Amino acid sequence: MSVVGIPILDNLYPVTMDLWPVEAKEFNMVFPFYENLKQGRFTTTKCKDCGHVAFPPRGVICPACYSQNLEYIDLPKTGKVVVLSEEVKGVPLGYESPLIHAVVQFDGPVKRMISKIVNCPVGTLKRGDEVEFVVFDVPPCPIEKGRAGTIMAERVFYAFQPVKK
Ligand SMILES: [Zn+2]
Repeated sequence: MSVVGIPILDNLYPVTMDLWPVEAKEFNMVFPFYENLKQGRFTTTKCKDCGHVAFPPRGVICPACYSQNLEYIDLPKTGKVVVLSEEVKGVPLGYESPLIHAVVQFDGPVKRMISKIVNCPVGTLKRGDEVEFVVFDVPPCPIEKGRAGTIMAERVFYAFQPVKK
């Protein structure tokens, strides 16, 4: 993992500058979310008792009724931009410019979320535009695997990108 803009950290793993979650099941209770991402699925947890759909997914309990009876369900993969921000200059260390975020509205159990927008030139995205779910690779992270030693765990994350018209 290298950090954009800091050549001295090339080939090192600066843990405090890691922008992405440790997704391995040994360290993360919502690991099925990341396993599903790797298969291109956009999912979250739904409570089997009261029906509450939480996003981000919950690891153990339903935030509405405290049941532990959760299941993963698929979410819509397209939505509409409600409002957006574009950072071009002075983006935080480790991020590349432009850094675009949007509130995206969905026709599904999760109504709105803030997401990173990728594959989008500055100034082209507008309110009301349709965006689609996309999964991309992020730098792997080292995890201890007992006798197997340290392995580099593959990681992915999600964002949205403009739907080509
Ligand atoms: Zn519940």
